[in-house]
Formats: sequence, structure tokens, C-alpha cells
Amino acid sequence: MNESHLELVDIVMSFNGFKAIEGLNLSVSKGELRCLIGPNGAGKTTALDLICGKIRPSSGEIRYAGKVISNLDEYQIARAGVGRKFQVPSVLRQLTVRENLEVANCKQTGVFANLFRPGISGRRELEALAEFVGLGEVLDRQAGYLSHGQTQWLEIALLLAQDSELILLDEPTAGMTVQETHKTAEICNRLKGRHTIIVVEHDMGFVKEIGDVISVMHQGRLLAQGTVAEIERNEKVREVYLGS
Ligand code: ADP
Repeated sequence: MNESHLELVDIVMSFNGFKAIEGLNLSVSKGELRCLIGPNGAGKTTALDLICGKIRPSSGEIRYAGKVISNLDEYQIARAGVGRKFQVPSVLRQLTVRENLEVANCKQTGVFANLFRPGISGRRELEALAEFVGLGEVLDRQAGYLSHGQTQWLEIALLLAQDSELILLDEPTAGMTVQETHKTAEICNRLKGRHTIIVVEHDMGFVKEIGDVISVMHQGRLLAQGTVAEIERNEKVREVYLGS
């Protein structure tokens, strides 16, 4: 768990001269679940955009699994195993849960290698994956009829069906009920170790349920990093984010 699996080195991201990210360094180990928190405008979403290749850094380098990825296109980074869940759902609403998974599954080979034993049929694998995120009972329901929580879990399942190893989640619990948030934490905790996960989140209750190490961003930089307890008693973090 110690070697750096994902590394952001001296990242600067300028938008027309405005530096949204200004010298960000971040290192995440394989199988780790890292929470990224910080006030609005701190640069958290921009950091995810940079990792998945939606945008390229103005300077600095991003390395993943031993390779530089910051010079690659978004589809190449996805193929390298990086999956991003956006705040706005991207499920195909007219298709069933099963069909959505099949479509995502077609995008990659070697499906579920991290999660399930090899050699079982594709159909079984998809069903197991749906079970894994709590959608086993609604496999044949049109995605447009899923609840908000179920839609978010399907989004996570789609990343797994695409064989993403590094999973980037941007505010996965936004709009969720307490029960849905708790279930999302359970899914994240079960993925931990088998996948590397970065979660941008505001809900500190959720962060406490899932996060081993928390990185706090402020004004495009890393302000602090540590366990929940360390972060909660950090004066600088309390001042700019936790509000006490
Ligand atoms: P966070 O996710 O922490 O709330 P963001 O990464 O969304 O912060 O934004 C960081 C800063 O960068 C904000 O000031 C935002 O307005 C700015 N920003 C983000 N994307 C763009 C863009 N495409 N063009 C101009 N400014 C941007």
C-alpha cells in the first residue's frame, strides 16, 4: 500500500490566467480510498478533471500505475483504468440496468478482473456486479425509473463494468437520503483495497465513514492531510473549512 499509484506533481491549472490549481502535489497508494475535501472553489473538481484527462495541466505531471498520463487523451486515460463518475448521471435512461451494464461492459475487456473470479459467464458477472451495488432486484428495470440513490449506484457499477481500477467520485452522496448515503459508504468500503478510489465530498459524516486519509484543498493547493481526527483538530482546516 505504500508505493505511489497515482501521483500529481507540482500541478498548475490556469484558466485564462486564473490559477484554479497552483502547485498541487498529491500521492495516493494502490487500493487506498482518499477523500478530497475543502471549501467551494478550492479546486477539487478541477483536480478530478485533470486526473481523468478532461483537461490538461498548464504545468506539472500526473503519473498513474508507473506511467505519465497527463499527456494522454481522456479516452486513453480511461483505457488505462481511470473511471470518473460525474455529478450529473450518465446512465442511459431508456435502457434497463442490465443493458446499461452490458453497454459499459462492451467498452472494455477483462471485465471485473479485480472483483470476481475469472471464468464465469458475462451474464453472471453482470448480475453479480448489480448485486454488489444493491441493484440485483432491479436488473430488468429501466434506468429512468430508478431512485436517485439507485441511479448513483448504477453509475458506480458502470465504472466497474468498464473495468476501471482508479475510481473518481465527485460528490456521490449529493441529494441522497441518510440511508442512501450510508449504503454508498458501504459500497465504497467494499471497493477499498480492490480499487483505488478518490472521493470529493462535502458530507463530513460520509467522509468519516469511508476515509482513511483525508486531503484538504484550499485555493488550489493541499492545505492539510491526515486521518479524520487529525484533520478535525487542524487549526488551519477548522478556519477555512470546518467553520469552528
Ligand atoms: P471545487 O470543486 O473545490 O469547488 P473547482 O475545481 O470547481 O472547485 O473550481 C476551482 C476554481 O476554478 C473556481 O474558482 C472555479 O470558478 C474555477 N474554474 C473551474 N473550472 C473553470 C473553467 N473551466 N474556467 C474558468 N474557471 C474555472
